[in-house]
Amino acid sequence: MIDKHDWRLTGHQANYLHGELLRYAPYRPPRPGWTHDRCEFCWTRFAPQKREGCASEGFHTEDHRWICECCYEDFKVIFDWRLEG
Ligand SMILES: [Zn+2]
Repeated sequence: MIDKHDWRLTGHQANYLHGELLRYAPYRPPRPGWTHDRCEFCWTRFAPQKREGCASEGFHTEDHRWICECCYEDFKVIFDWRLEG
């Protein structure tokens, strides 16, 4: 069980991520020349190709914020996320 003092929680994520509709997908940069995004919680790097220490797929919001699988599992209950089927 995750508590509210988990190091990945800044206290701000709830302002823009609570109750969001998430979609599971392979990582795609939002536009050409954009190299990567990071998990909103643990800062794991997302990359389009599989690479050591990087996630190549995960959960994202409509406004293109990414959450890795591990953080999704850990925080889905607190953040009350909905998953697009
Ligand atoms: Zn993460």
